[in-house]
Amino acid sequence: MGSEYEEAIAALSKLLSEKADLGSVAASKIKQITADLEAAGSSDADNRIKTGFTHFKTEKFDKKSELYGTLAKGQRPKYMVFACSDSRVCPSHILDFQPGEAFMARNIASMVPTYDKKKYTGAGAAIEYAVLHLKVKNIVVIGHSCCGGIKGLMSIPDDGTTASDFIEEWVSICVSAKTKVKSEFHEMSFQELCDHCEKESVNVSLGNLLTYPFVREALVKKTLTLKGAHYDFVNGKFDLWNLNFQIAPTLAL
Ligand SMILES: [Zn+2]
Repeated sequence: MGSEYEEAIAALSKLLSEKADLGSVAASKIKQITADLEAAGSSDADNRIKTGFTHFKTEKFDKKSELYGTLAKGQRPKYMVFACSDSRVCPSHILDFQPGEAFMARNIASMVPTYDKKKYTGAGAAIEYAVLHLKVKNIVVIGHSCCGGIKGLMSIPDDGTTASDFIEEWVSICVSAKTKVKSEFHEMSFQELCDHCEKESVNVSLGNLLTYPFVREALVKKTLTLKGAHYDFVNGKFDLWNLNFQIAPTLAL
């Protein structure tokens, strides 16, 4: 483990001492507290995970041995899906994607950052792998109702001051969506602005996908399509649309 890990453990020990109001207790005492915390909190969580896997194994894995046998040899998904990390919007559930069908990238507010080899390598690696190696035929970016990430974006003050370590910086990827809805729908309530921004952010993400050279090449070769979507879990609705982009001819004859 690196020094970051050791620093993190030291910070955790410090926190435990403070929380437990123990002052400078011996390291062994802190170890005991840590073990007690783990024992108290883990049994329900462990059981839920074990029960869940047992259900999957008996009801799906064992019953569809042909499918899982094929997938064991490799994957050839037709879709790459960007979805929010929100626990209510899992694409496998709402779109009934089966194992092997969709390569997923989930993050706060289902945003696609622009091509950036230093800042957003996680997203870039997922897109590169999906397009160049898996050769997906469609990339779908799915926004959703009541998105906390979008609410966070809409709540960033105009002077740009932020209070979070990561969240506001991340959701600012779609700041142009915020600017657009605020200028177009300025008479609307905050909630209505968030509703519009959920869809407009998807469009910004679709535009950001065009900043990846391998995405552009696949679009030109017509081996890839880009689609936007919005899942409304309040009313049980799902909208799907294609990216509309205009390419002006470089030379008019
Ligand atoms: Zn969300």
